[in-house]
Amino acid sequence: MAATPLEVRNIKKRFGDTEVLKGLSLEAQKGDVITLIGASGSGKSTFLRCMNLLEQPDEGEIILHGDTIRFKETRRGREPADIKQVVQMRAKLSMVFQNFNLWAHMTLLENIIEAPIHVLGKSKKEATEHAYALLERVGLTARAHAYPAQMSGGQQQRGAIARALAMDPEVMLFDEPTSALDPELVGDVLKVMRDLANEGRTMVVVTHEMSFARDVSSQVIYLHQGLVEEAGTPGDVLGNPQSSRLKQFLTPNY
Ligand code: ADP
Ligand code: MG
Repeated sequence: MAATPLEVRNIKKRFGDTEVLKGLSLEAQKGDVITLIGASGSGKSTFLRCMNLLEQPDEGEIILHGDTIRFKETRRGREPADIKQVVQMRAKLSMVFQNFNLWAHMTLLENIIEAPIHVLGKSKKEATEHAYALLERVGLTARAHAYPAQMSGGQQQRGAIARALAMDPEVMLFDEPTSALDPELVGDVLKVMRDLANEGRTMVVVTHEMSFARDVSSQVIYLHQGLVEEAGTPGDVLGNPQSSRLKQFLTPNY
């Protein structure tokens, strides 16, 4: 059997005196779409950022395709032992952020070809051809030479997804990709994400879009104060919540 694309075990993280992740685990098999839900401050972003080492977890293991990230203890705390391994793992784990994060001084096309050329060593011609195929997928062929500031939020986010896809990632991480968008722009971004899910992409998605979570998730994880309070199929977690806190979380109250 092929190795599991992403496995994280017992991740703990504190900021100062506050332990914000109290031992979180997750396992994404190929094609899984795992959605993380929970109130603001429950640790969703920190958990996602620990998975690709944008934050250093204090404890826990991260295993990509059977390859365990190695850490060393330093005076500053725990740090990755091998920077090359971190660069390799980031190439396999693309992240899409809430605030788009395209580089402002580059056109959309330049944004997309940058890492394939400089990290994967592709030729400019090859990277550009792939970029145009991705731009077509996300409906942005006409905006290839636009700068981020000239694009709507929805276009920027679809561009950011194309940029993430350009790395041929094994797992895609999304942190509330539609939360910063005007309501009328959310649908196009969710459509792109549904297509990715339906074609068997492995994804971990932090979202408040419950219909998206219900339709595409293989697993839904509800976090509360840095712990998993409930996890299971969308039918179980969203359709038949057990804890009163989750029931309340799922009840629209305004
Ligand atoms: P969520 O994404 O679920 O809203 P976060 O992971 O952003 O939650 O935050 C979890 C907790 O960790 C919050 O209490 C937040 O204030 C705290 N936190 C997050 N990042 C930092 C940081 N860099 N320094 C200090 N505290 C942080
Ligand atoms: Mg967050």
